[in-house]
Amino acid sequence: MKKKGLVAIVGRPNVGKSTLFNRIIREKKAIVEDIPGVTRDRMYGTAEWLTLPFIVIDTGGITLQDAPFAKEIKMQAEIAIDEADVIVFVINYREGITPEDEVVAKILYKSKKPVLLAVNKYDKKESDEEAYQFMTLGFGEPTLISSTHGIGVGDLLDKVVNSMPRQPDINQKDVTNIAIIGKPNVGKSSLVNAITGENRMIVSEISGTTTDAVDSKITVNNQKYVLIDTAGIRKRGRIYENLEKYSYLRSLTSINKADIVLLIIDASVPISDQDTNIGGLAFEEHKPIILIGNKWDIIENKNTNSMIKKEEEFKAYFKYLQYAHMVFISAKENLRISKIFSAVEHVNENLKKRIKTSVLNEVLNKAQLLNPAPNHNGGRLKIYYGSQVEAYLPTFVMFVNNPSYVHFSYKRFLENQIRQQFDFDGVPMNLIFRERK
Ligand code: GDP
Ligand code: GDP
Repeated sequence: MKKKGLVAIVGRPNVGKSTLFNRIIREKKAIVEDIPGVTRDRMYGTAEWLTLPFIVIDTGGITLQDAPFAKEIKMQAEIAIDEADVIVFVINYREGITPEDEVVAKILYKSKKPVLLAVNKYDKKESDEEAYQFMTLGFGEPTLISSTHGIGVGDLLDKVVNSMPRQPDINQKDVTNIAIIGKPNVGKSSLVNAITGENRMIVSEISGTTTDAVDSKITVNNQKYVLIDTAGIRKRGRIYENLEKYSYLRSLTSINKADIVLLIIDASVPISDQDTNIGGLAFEEHKPIILIGNKWDIIENKNTNSMIKKEEEFKAYFKYLQYAHMVFISAKENLRISKIFSAVEHVNENLKKRIKTSVLNEVLNKAQLLNPAPNHNGGRLKIYYGSQVEAYLPTFVMFVNNPSYVHFSYKRFLENQIRQQFDFDGVPMNLIFRERK
């Protein structure tokens, strides 16, 4: 699995960042299931250009309350420099280069990442010579664009894709990349300490190639793991640490690199929107997720049923994670940390599981007998046969009479039937419907 590249849009207010962002991520209107607990606040999105998928973030969406312009723009630019692979610096054609643009430029000069200058609000085709005046900013030849009309945006995306560093194939077969995510104060850094302290076999800390992120390598039960961005998790006291959107962004970049995600919650307090929104990010990125309820040591009146009860209580907030494992631990007291790795090993096994076509088709036939598909979109779905195909996540291709007859509730029914017959606990599943020719 390759990690997706990340593009950050930066610039002073009102130059058209969010308009450009929306144009880039403009997605095909797919049938979207309404998933409760998944944030629809779009500061980031996924896009594809020339078959290369990437993530776009609008740094203008990350704001500080009552902060002067300089402080806020510094934060946004620093975040872009830290997190992005390519930075798009937007200015306004109609106003020319302003002193505020120069403030932004000055911060971006420090970046070693590619910076592409986009001169926006260039609504009518004028002579290209206009472009040269903007070269004084020092970012080479700009791209003249109109985000509202779409002019030049394709040229800009060509340059984005060309400037994107080649993403290493992070899925080396023998290493599992683990992201530890969760809102501030749930115990992420305590957990990293507990894990790395317990495992004396930390091989090394590997410096990221394009970012300052530092990952930790560990070995548990002869399996190699990389804990993603442990430095970022441990780094305390950064001014933006408690900004909710920044916290999402950090989670997103870790999730992007992960094979398996550990979503940490504080089991001693009620679940908040921030917990479910961060979980939603991992879910939307289609990653296997293990729920970790931390601070078990301070839960009062525990008995043998407490974990089961708590799991039910918490999973009610994470409706989309019913199949996920949940483990209760105390990072601080170093309790049950090994249970995390048992769950990870189980997930790893399920990711590798392959179902024989004949066995799968028995299940599919029975499922259709038991519960034939309802009429949908003017027809009734008929599955002729299905088979599991090679992919990181369990992926089943169903050959059918007409894919448009698939109702998402029937898709969910089929998924549940497969899950009932085979252990795919802890991992998301892909069902793809193709017309049989
Ligand atoms: P941001 O603050 O940088 O995110 O800027 P917005 O995307 O919110 O845009 C600020 C204003 O500029 C809005 O009224 C947009 O409709 C307008 N705008 C954005 N792009 C263009 C453009 O290409 N041409 C014109 N004429 N207006 C634009
Ligand atoms: P992070 O912001 O998610 O990295 O959280 P920290 O690891 O910095 O922990 C936040 C606070 O929770 C600190 O005061 C920790 O000592 C405390 N904490 C972390 N894990 C546990 C735990 O298992 N039990 C208890 N009682 N406190 C914990």
